[in-house]
Amino acid sequence: MTTTNFAGLARADVEALDANDPLRGLRDAFHVPDGLLYLDGNSLGPMAHRVRERVRKAVEQEWADGLIGSWNDAGWVDLPRRVGGKIARLVGAQARSVVATDSTSVNLFKVLAAALQLSPERRVIVSERSNFPTDLYMAEGIASLAGRGHELRLVDDPAEIPAALDERVAVLMLTHVSYRTGLIHDMADLTRRAHDCGALTIWDLAHSAGALPVDLEGADADFAIGCGYKYLNGGPGAPAFLYVAPGLQARATQPLSGWFGHAAPFAFDSGYRPADGIDRFLTGTPGVISMSALDAALDIFDAVEMAALRTKSVALCELFLAQVEARCRGLGVALVSPREADRRGSQVSFAHPNAYAVMQALIARRVVGDFRAPDILRFGFTPLYTRYTDAFDAAAVMHEVLASGEWERPEFNVRRAVT
Ligand SMILES: *Cc1c(COP(=O)(O)O)cnc(C)c1O
Repeated sequence: MTTTNFAGLARADVEALDANDPLRGLRDAFHVPDGLLYLDGNSLGPMAHRVRERVRKAVEQEWADGLIGSWNDAGWVDLPRRVGGKIARLVGAQARSVVATDSTSVNLFKVLAAALQLSPERRVIVSERSNFPTDLYMAEGIASLAGRGHELRLVDDPAEIPAALDERVAVLMLTHVSYRTGLIHDMADLTRRAHDCGALTIWDLAHSAGALPVDLEGADADFAIGCGYKYLNGGPGAPAFLYVAPGLQARATQPLSGWFGHAAPFAFDSGYRPADGIDRFLTGTPGVISMSALDAALDIFDAVEMAALRTKSVALCELFLAQVEARCRGLGVALVSPREADRRGSQVSFAHPNAYAVMQALIARRVVGDFRAPDILRFGFTPLYTRYTDAFDAAAVMHEVLASGEWERPEFNVRRAVT
């Protein structure tokens, strides 16, 4: 596959890629609307048929008939651990090192607070200015709450990260795969550098989990968080997840010390005692219906090796990138993702001065990617249900939209709330 000349392929060649795709059968597990070229599974994964069935069961049987008894009888109370165990396999962790709970933002708050508590004499959090804003906002909030002069040190270029690590740094907090460009950080190397200066690491896996192989234990990562509704297809606002390295679980504590993180929640003690292990990172009652949806969606990964997923993801991205560059030369698009496939996650991003309007025009033609301010056209390639012909056809539509200038129409230039 690496030697394929993707720019020179005709549609019939691309159809042959689909016919020979070992993962092609997985698309049938999902509801993908007819005629839609959906390249936005990195923002919201589609609904799997088994999710609809599972949510129906959770509502119509477990809740409607089982009522309170379902906490035990339907295993609701174990969902955060059970779902966490399924995610653990995808991110290179032991089952008992991951829980599904809360949102990514809230989980970041918990692990960042835990990491800072483990290094009380250090005051600096290192991250990237281009990190996903909520990660930076949560860090700002923690720094103000800690009230002991904590400082957020932001680098503008990934190459500056090693130099930003010194003996004042408590935590290196990075998103493993950039949501804007798709650049993959070398998790093992940066974790080792952080550890060499005595700092802990937090990895945000929002664009990694379910998208490419991740090896948290192999990289010796300390904490990680990630998202349930992107590549894991858990549904809008699905529970997020949280990882704590086994060696830290007995020492790490977090301030959102709700009863689900208590050693004995149903003892109703008046004082807080953290549960053993990862459970102390739970807070309150899980959202059972959305947790059930995520649980069912994760079963699709049972039949999938992450290495096979990655092979197809790389090929989809290479095909799209090559086709766009071959067709859209001189039409204002410039690649902002890394050109080298091994440094790029499961997405391809291009800059265009009128990216917002161009994306609206693409969506009107049923090619759904997304716009990221100020000028990025972002396309996610999710191998579970995306076909090679989808990537090929999307590049052709992009050429039509750019060459015709149809994106200049007024209706494509009105900003909506969610981009
Ligand atoms: C999508 C995303 C989030 C989302 O956080 P929520 O709390 O679910 O809104 C956080 N971090 C990164 C890097 C993301 O890409």
